[in-house]
Amino acid sequence: MKESLKQFIRAGFDSALQNGSIQAYYQPVIRTISGRLCSFEALARWVDPEFGILRPDQFIPVLEQDKRIHLLDSHIIREVCRQLRRSIDSGETPIPVSVNLSRLDFSCCDIFSVVDQQVSAFQIPHDFLYIEITESILGEQEGLMHEVVDRFHEAGYQVWMDDFGSGYSSLNMLKDYSFDELKLDMRFLSSLDRRSRRILTSIIHMAKEIDIHTLAEGVETEEQFLYLRDIGCEKVQGYYFGAPMPYAKALEHLREKGVAVELPLHRKYYDDLGRIDFLSSLPLLDQKERKQLVTARQLNSIPLALVEMRRDFFSLLFSNTAFEQNLRGAELLQEDFRNAEPGATLALALMPERVVNLLKSTRDKGLGRMLFVSHDEYYELKTRCVARRRGAFCVLMQLNNLSQASQAASTTHLDEGLRQLYTLFDRITLIDLEKDCITPLYVGRTDYLTKGREGIAALAVDFARTQVFREDQERILQFYDISTLDARLNASGHNAISGCFRCLVSDGQYDWKQFIVMRYRPGILLELIHDARAELAPFRLCETENADENNCPPEMLWKNLIQSDVVRMFWKDRERRFLGVNRGFLEYYGFGSDQDVIGKTDEELGWHVHPFASSTRASPHTTSPAAAYPTGKTGRSLPTRRRFSTRRAILSVCSAVLLTEVF
Ligand code: C2E
Ligand code: CA
Ligand code: CA
Repeated sequence: MKESLKQFIRAGFDSALQNGSIQAYYQPVIRTISGRLCSFEALARWVDPEFGILRPDQFIPVLEQDKRIHLLDSHIIREVCRQLRRSIDSGETPIPVSVNLSRLDFSCCDIFSVVDQQVSAFQIPHDFLYIEITESILGEQEGLMHEVVDRFHEAGYQVWMDDFGSGYSSLNMLKDYSFDELKLDMRFLSSLDRRSRRILTSIIHMAKEIDIHTLAEGVETEEQFLYLRDIGCEKVQGYYFGAPMPYAKALEHLREKGVAVELPLHRKYYDDLGRIDFLSSLPLLDQKERKQLVTARQLNSIPLALVEMRRDFFSLLFSNTAFEQNLRGAELLQEDFRNAEPGATLALALMPERVVNLLKSTRDKGLGRMLFVSHDEYYELKTRCVARRRGAFCVLMQLNNLSQASQAASTTHLDEGLRQLYTLFDRITLIDLEKDCITPLYVGRTDYLTKGREGIAALAVDFARTQVFREDQERILQFYDISTLDARLNASGHNAISGCFRCLVSDGQYDWKQFIVMRYRPGILLELIHDARAELAPFRLCETENADENNCPPEMLWKNLIQSDVVRMFWKDRERRFLGVNRGFLEYYGFGSDQDVIGKTDEELGWHVHPFASSTRASPHTTSPAAAYPTGKTGRSLPTRRRFSTRRAILSVCSAVLLTEVF
């Protein structure tokens, strides 16, 4: 600084104070959510006819050197109080003003008394004057600073931390003092790149977590303003809204810009709104509830867990409270997994196979997703492979209850009817013919087709080439041939077509899958893929002499059989009259309903009788004697075993049919 300027400041300060050259300029502070003026900051200006307008950084260092800064501050505070009184007396809406205190104010005078006396002298309500203390001075004379800050608070003044983030100890200061508002240093905004955006976002979020209001300084552009508003910063200040100006000019400037003034009685209302943290994962919790959250595991409402997978073992390295809550409802993971101590090593056999498959495919593909139903609720398990090393990899899991979080887009497709299908199918996909794209609604075992969604023909070719057994590839392409699809659906008579193809399941193995495509809505088809082999498994089990009946409850078997259209099934009385048939039977032989066959014999239906049928009829032990085979359509005949119990006889027939028709 020029010596002449320094000398001018030293020599002229006292008279400048007296003759009105030192003035308070007012810079507007705008509430982001309302766009209204909510306060001013008073900034000192020395208006000199010779030197022009001197800025604080020119004269403040000299005053601090001379330990006369408190004289400036008490002068500015007096000016501010005088202005407030003028506003009140003239019936204008009084606008709160924040004033700056210097480090030396705390040692050179009793700054609290200086402020409080002026405020009393002008009879200003204490909540119209805010005290700004810059963070850089707080570390000094800690005991004294604490005492003074407490006195301001007790007397009803708000105390704000100025220039937050400019010094070295901002976070410690936050911890040690209870400020009402944080003024974020304007350097955060100097380049609004990705990093500074993230930092700002984190600070706003943190401030709300500890219930401190936020104000960003140095806002110069609309882009900065919009960003700050969107992350929930409550107030903004900067040249974009107006530079510091004499009071009347500042008001005129705002009027020109169409900025209205916030009414004092609305202040608390807006302060309450400002407490909402749009960035929070628990935005609906109020302050009291938030304070009750004591552990980090409770702080995130996103249900998260981290699982480490090794060859034969796994460990749950982390899970939060939300994840455990969802796990309780979802019968996805067995008891052991649920009760696992963090980090405990468990046998991989305890983890359900489909979860293991999902995690392994996540290791290979980076991401994974599985939907399933448990206790009539939808769950979504989303996964991301976050790290891997030789022999181990870690997957971050998010377990969402989609039924509760109805905002999940996919649930809009899941009406009550579809819900039932979830347990029965491997994969359910919507095929939108107009948009030429697919939407996977449910992906069970395989996560193929969760990436590309557009171009049905190309997807079918890709699926056939990569997922289908060579001998079945041509057939599945014909199955998915869009050009003939409509005609085939019409010809089917029931708006659905189906086919069985061998598909890749794991480790290069192929398994039979039944594909069903049906009309869902105009232009939209529903594709259901169904594990044909799984359907066979219980039949095989019951066929063996020592079958464990508990493992295949008869009612489940029966339900599957009745609904199956892969298995064609019927049962008869001693006179070989049909007692019942299943859906597969009706569809295959072209009957409209079971009433067309019930009570009739094969002869009455015009069918030949299989030679085995008459011999089984002779058995006195069977209640369902005959396994007549209608040859009317296929011309094939099937052997059945003699002298079985009712269920065994039927099951045997079905297995044979299945084996012949499917494999
Ligand atoms: P501060 O308290 O951080 O005040 C904000 C400074 O940023 C002001 O400079 C203001 O004019 C400037 N500013 C406002 N909006 C913008 C913007 O959009 N872009 C940029 N680049 N700058 C902006 P000013 O008035 O020169 O004051 C400088 C510093 O001097 C203040 O920083 C404050 O620490 C101190 N000060 C000002 N008046 C007083 C006072 O009466 N007493 C004390 N103790 N210190 C004061
Ligand atoms: Ca300030
Ligand atoms: Ca500042």
